[in-house]
Amino acid sequence: MARVALVTGGTRGIGAAISKALKAAGYKVAANYGGNDAAAEKFKGETDIPVYKWDVSSFEACSEGIKKVEAELGPIDVLINNAGITRDTAFHKMTLEQWSAVINTNLGSLFNMTRPIIEGMRARKFGRIINISSINGQKGQFGQVNYSAAKAGDIGFTKALALETAKAGITVNVICPGYINTEMVQAVPKDVLEKSILPLIPVGRLGEPEEIARTVVFLAADEAGAITGSTLSVNGGQYMA
Ligand code: NDP
Repeated sequence: MARVALVTGGTRGIGAAISKALKAAGYKVAANYGGNDAAAEKFKGETDIPVYKWDVSSFEACSEGIKKVEAELGPIDVLINNAGITRDTAFHKMTLEQWSAVINTNLGSLFNMTRPIIEGMRARKFGRIINISSINGQKGQFGQVNYSAAKAGDIGFTKALALETAKAGITVNVICPGYINTEMVQAVPKDVLEKSILPLIPVGRLGEPEEIARTVVFLAADEAGAITGSTLSVNGGQYMA
């Protein structure tokens, strides 16, 4: 029987590519999103993947959303914690709102999403949890104290949970994308991108969402059971950790 995969932030950018790649690989896929109904409609027009709207920064919303997905598609075997936001500014200007929104969406969501799902995975003795962190969680980034802290937290979460779940047949891994060609990066001013970012990337280009999706499909496979607690960098050689 097809395994069930849930992708947070799965209707746009990297998440949409992950949803489509998992579907193409034979999974039953559910795509969560936060509030951009227009993007979700567009995604629905391109695929027959069901979409589910809830805020991953709310534990209650995640618990309810997961119940709905499991009632409609079956128990979740593969969880991709992909949803994320940025609220960039220098730390001395950062508001509590900018700090909290980024921490709750990029790191709090890993608790909110994984906690309701983990017991079922443990009972069924199978699970794949794949977290999408960032190169900036590995190395830090000017103007992103909030985001770098959250994304570094995703890596610690991954390693600790991988230890706890290894005996239960559940793997937990984290992917650290570099600069990927999505709306998040298209928001960076063109001259900053061309003068300050591209020269730092040895392959000389942005990554594509499909390149992250390919890595997710690799880690999600039944055959990837010995890969756990790993941090996979997909960054064009920009940072080799
Ligand atoms: P996008 O901004 O293109 O898409 C973000 C997705 O996350 C959207 O689907 C959005 O939903 C969803 N989302 C945001 N907040 C919430 C929320 N509170 N509840 C539910 N869903 C939410 O981002 P990318 O595709 O570029 O990024 C995907 C992941 O990859 C993020 O975790 C990001 O930090 C990480 N990353 C991205 C890099 C890049 O270069 N693009 C580099 C390194 C890491 P909606 O459509 O409703 O807004």
